[in-house]
Amino acid sequence: MAEINPDAPALAAGEQRFLRRCFQLARLGAGSVSPNPMVGAVLAYDNRIIGEGWHQRYGEAHAEVQAIRAVARADRNLTPRSTLYCALEPCFHHGKTPPCVDLILEQKIPRVVVSSIDPNPLTGGQSVAKLRAAGVEVIARALEAEGRSLNRAFFTWMTQKRPYIILKWAQSADGYLGRAAERTPISGPLAQRLVHRWRSEVDAILVGAKTARTDNPRLDNRWYSGKSPLRVALDFSGKIPGNAHLLDDSMPTWILGGKRPGQWKNTTFLPLAGAGPDLDWIPFLLEKLHAGNRAILLVEGGAYTLRQFLDNGCWDEIRVLENPVRLGGGIAAPRVPESARLETSGLIGTDRVEIWLLSEAW
Ligand SMILES: [Zn+2]
Repeated sequence: MAEINPDAPALAAGEQRFLRRCFQLARLGAGSVSPNPMVGAVLAYDNRIIGEGWHQRYGEAHAEVQAIRAVARADRNLTPRSTLYCALEPCFHHGKTPPCVDLILEQKIPRVVVSSIDPNPLTGGQSVAKLRAAGVEVIARALEAEGRSLNRAFFTWMTQKRPYIILKWAQSADGYLGRAAERTPISGPLAQRLVHRWRSEVDAILVGAKTARTDNPRLDNRWYSGKSPLRVALDFSGKIPGNAHLLDDSMPTWILGGKRPGQWKNTTFLPLAGAGPDLDWIPFLLEKLHAGNRAILLVEGGAYTLRQFLDNGCWDEIRVLENPVRLGGGIAAPRVPESARLETSGLIGTDRVEIWLLSEAW
């Protein structure tokens, strides 16, 4: 990647506000743009936003295009005197849409403020260089930590060639996932709804065989707007009952295990050679997800599956929901590793939500 600025520049408060507006707009694309990054853009003249937009859907117009198009007719003469703020470096390459860097030049925008540099080698600093070579003033790597954190899933996807892995569990106040061999709803209604929002924002959800049997989850998103992700279940020993929701063939589903008899439209069976729970199924699954362009994986349990990811250091983010209820016994919840750093915590209804990140990463 081309060397951009040795140090992230300080930005005046007014300009920080515009860039943070880009981050806010970018998040509106969560769940719809993956494996692309979430990007928002703001065009401002004399401390006033004249156009803004975000990348709304994979394959469709980029944020910069949306922001430029959004400028009102009466303000169009201001575009060549404005500053364009971007959550991520504008693209350099012809993808599903033409390069934004050329649009910026075409529109004669004289100044561009960029947060993180695109880790995609097809751009990778080249747009910043091209703009500067053409005489555009570019402030790059502004509020970089925030910009990188916003797109941490995309950065992981690009640099590590695997999905970003989120582990999620709900626990009681005394640290249990549930009673053994019995479906134990723990989270309150608002927390459950939040989980469905999380589902709408990821590309795949995984559960182990025991959870599939005990809880019989649907693993879809029914309580929030947006899509349902790919469902993935472990079934090495073929013990998920045929009438389980996960085997209803109602939506795209991967089963890690042998094929069941029958006609399947949406269900794909992925047998492991010499299948067994001790095999290296995590790299196998990550590779399949990568090949299928699934950039964010949410692991929803249960204890065995979560521990496999934790013990192998195979995670990027952990989300814990804790309800004040005390179970007094049952299946112990995993522990958040020492290497994690608390990113955010708060209350949703009765439940405490904690989001942990790998401390050295972000
Ligand atoms: Zn673009």
